[in-house]
Amino acid sequence: MRQKRAKTYRKLLASYIRTFGLRPPLQILIDSEMAISMASMKFQPEEFNKSAAYVKPMITQCCINELYKAQKEGQPQANAVELAKGWERRFCNHKDPIPGDRCLRQVIGETNKHRYCLAANSVALRNAIRHTVAGVPIAHVNDHKVMVMEPMSDLTRKRCEEFEREKLQNVSGRQSTVLGKRSSDIITGEEGALPATTVEGETDQGAEPAFKPRKKKAKGPNPLSMKKSKKDKGKNQSDNQAGPSKAKKRKANVQVSQSS
Ligand SMILES: [Zn+2]
Repeated sequence: MRQKRAKTYRKLLASYIRTFGLRPPLQILIDSEMAISMASMKFQPEEFNKSAAYVKPMITQCCINELYKAQKEGQPQANAVELAKGWERRFCNHKDPIPGDRCLRQVIGETNKHRYCLAANSVALRNAIRHTVAGVPIAHVNDHKVMVMEPMSDLTRKRCEEFEREKLQNVSGRQSTVLGKRSSDIITGEEGALPATTVEGETDQGAEPAFKPRKKKAKGPNPLSMKKSKKDKGKNQSDNQAGPSKAKKRKANVQVSQSS
């Protein structure tokens, strides 16, 4: 059960990472109620690390202020202060502390541009974020004292679907341009190749001529021109007969290529 849940969370977090630009270490804003739950569970920040990605627990000035105010109420509250002291402090710039829920809503903002996750036991805060901001992974501690991650909100899922659609369109667009380049390469390759092939080669318009002629082209002209000059001097008669005829063909082909 626990492993299955962990796998589900890994996949869920991967979707957030892919779509909303979240990056490990995931910054998790923790509200004061959650901090108290975690302290009473003897929850260690390292527990977070058992999930897919490394995470960075954070607490805002206003939230830790709430904890300081509550610390005399009981041991869990006092423990929560100690626990939260080990987390990174998020400077929310509320000189006069405001309620933690409001503070966290402001810190996350309308678009969650700083890519936070939210771990909150405040139902009102979770509802507010779930319905108004896309792309915020939300977790809380349930009645069984288990940290659970919410499934994606409708708002977040819609944004994910849009993102995947856009990505597909971009990919298909890019593929067609790449294919366009390739086919144009083949065409120019064939055109360039034709002159070097023999006249019969022109009838074969398959893929093969594109390869063979290039080899001939590279080898051809220089050795032949060298032989030609030697043969003109009359060293070898049998070569003489074969050589010039080939040379003529090549010359003819070169002319074709220049004219075309
Ligand atoms: Zn604040």
